[in-house]
Amino acid sequence: MIGCVVKSDHAYRLFRMKSAICTTCKTRPAVYYRKESGEKLCLECLERSIVRQVKHEINMWKMLGPHDVIGFLIPAEAILTSIPAFKIMSIIERKYATKLIAIKPSNLNSLKLETENIIEFQLPFKPSNLTEFLRFERTEAAKASKDHGVNKIVIPYTLEFETSYFLSNILKFNLGALGDLAPKLYSEKFNIVFVKPFRKIKSLELLIYGYFKGLLSGLYFRKSLTPFLLLKEIYEPLDYIISLSKEHFELVISTLKTAEFFFEKILGEYGFLNRCLFCGAKSENRVCSVCSRLYCSNSNA
Ligand SMILES: [Zn+2]
Ligand SMILES: [Zn+2]
Repeated sequence: MIGCVVKSDHAYRLFRMKSAICTTCKTRPAVYYRKESGEKLCLECLERSIVRQVKHEINMWKMLGPHDVIGFLIPAEAILTSIPAFKIMSIIERKYATKLIAIKPSNLNSLKLETENIIEFQLPFKPSNLTEFLRFERTEAAKASKDHGVNKIVIPYTLEFETSYFLSNILKFNLGALGDLAPKLYSEKFNIVFVKPFRKIKSLELLIYGYFKGLLSGLYFRKSLTPFLLLKEIYEPLDYIISLSKEHFELVISTLKTAEFFFEKILGEYGFLNRCLFCGAKSENRVCSVCSRLYCSNSNA
């Protein structure tokens, strides 16, 4: 009996040592187990894999061109995943004649990014729901960066963010909000295209990558984030998406596909035939209800 215990303990240790090696390069220790594919990835191979997936999404939707001036929005509601996403974007961008500029809310003082090229913007007033927040944020980012020659803005929303946003709004039949779900949105007013190349990347993978790269140390902005954490409407669907992705990752991907379908096919049937002049969301009128509140009622444009 004792022998048996020793034997299985030994086997367990052997298994652990074996399982800790990256299944891609077969040399470095693995830091992440990608359950849906069975891969165990070291930090370098995880980075390469994320870079590859992001590039694939960029090519699929023709999100970026070789001479773009790219703004990278650090959205306050997705700040933790945005920091590693910025690092991934700078790896991709390095190979082209493009320029990469970070765009961040001015109240996130403690945010450290590996770049000197930073544009700051301020939200004009506190949004009352998540849709308002997303639209205010990207139009203000566009407004602040158009004088810097920016023609594309990367919004680093992840798979969980996009799918939870879809679920939280479809459950309430809030079709107006679904106009934000496109991989690409165009702001005619600022002549800027918003793109979401991280829409199929899991938040967890960006967080693990950021953690082991040391990018997430020294973040002290709890106070400045508190107002945004009050946006609770997305948390329940987010919990659901996160537990779903543990066992049935394919269902999360199909949720994203459903969101795409809604955006491309269904919204038009309900009269969302325009694109908002400011934020680019699919909308019933030339200016969406959120932007008309922001830019038309108080002549802020
Ligand atoms: Zn590896
Ligand atoms: Zn709008």
